[in-house]
Amino acid sequence: MLRTTVAGSLPKPAWLAEPEKLWAPWRLDGAELERGQQDAALVWLKEQEDAGIDIVSNGEQFREHFVHGFLKHIDGIDWNKMTKMGIRDDRYVADVPTVTGPVRRRGSVHGAEVRFTRSHTDHKLKFTLPGPMTICDTIADAHYGKRADMAMAFAELLNQEARELEALGVDLIQFDEPAFNVFMDDVKDWGIAALHRAIEGLGCKTAVHICYGYGIVENIDWKKTLGAEWRQYEEIFPAINESRIDQVSLECANSKVPLSLIGLLKDKEVMVGVIDVASLEVESAEQVAATIRSAMAYVDPERMFPCTNCGMAPLPRGVAAGKLEALGAGARLVRAELGKG
Ligand code: ZN
Repeated sequence: MLRTTVAGSLPKPAWLAEPEKLWAPWRLDGAELERGQQDAALVWLKEQEDAGIDIVSNGEQFREHFVHGFLKHIDGIDWNKMTKMGIRDDRYVADVPTVTGPVRRRGSVHGAEVRFTRSHTDHKLKFTLPGPMTICDTIADAHYGKRADMAMAFAELLNQEARELEALGVDLIQFDEPAFNVFMDDVKDWGIAALHRAIEGLGCKTAVHICYGYGIVENIDWKKTLGAEWRQYEEIFPAINESRIDQVSLECANSKVPLSLIGLLKDKEVMVGVIDVASLEVESAEQVAATIRSAMAYVDPERMFPCTNCGMAPLPRGVAAGKLEALGAGARLVRAELGKG
């Protein structure tokens, strides 16, 4: 019970990429880069295991960005045709590549890194992929015409990739869908259908990570506009509870999400965010335990997976390591109280 996990990304060591920055350029290249990514993944596997994290990830050390890390390996995208686009409903403006033809996987995208990661840990292994809706909100379309159609095309590629990763021993595949919090009507119209296409035929666990984003200034400003209570989840959780996805995340640490919304996920496993990724302050084990206890009013410990609110990529490395420790220690405290230490 109360098995712990991370949302996915962890900081890159300073020798691998510029720290505390999203989209940070690599500091190595060629074979050295590959070796460096592997070394960084080993560091984070060890840090997670030492902290008592039960379901580990490779910290996304092999990708520059959680969406474009996948798209770089897809045909049908023109990287020379960059389009300035407001993403997440204009929360950020970014130069994004453009889809100019049918999308196709050139081959395995993440197979090599998963083979490496799998061979270096006996823990349950999570692997994160960008969700179809979030992909479509992070790339310009000059081919499909309708977002829902483009999402379905990407969902098929994600499914091919996910099946391959499952066969390599991944225990849980998580789709990151921060766009689910922004386009709530689309979630019900086609977002969940696209996720279903992405998980078709998978036997491993599946999860969807929805969040209020990394702790960067655009997100912190956006959150200020959301009012006293953040109820975005309320619009989509009933539909997600009906879906075939096994696990769903929500942010509970220092957030204005009413914990009672967990009650809308009564048929799901719930990743409860108990670590704030928008603060440099490392939580105490007792603070983490308190958040877990509050959430237990709405989800029993068998279905609850204490987790970070979101990825920790932009945080200083030492802060992220401290937060992993707090996550593991906080869960241990509550397990001990429940007599299952
Ligand atoms: Zn997130």
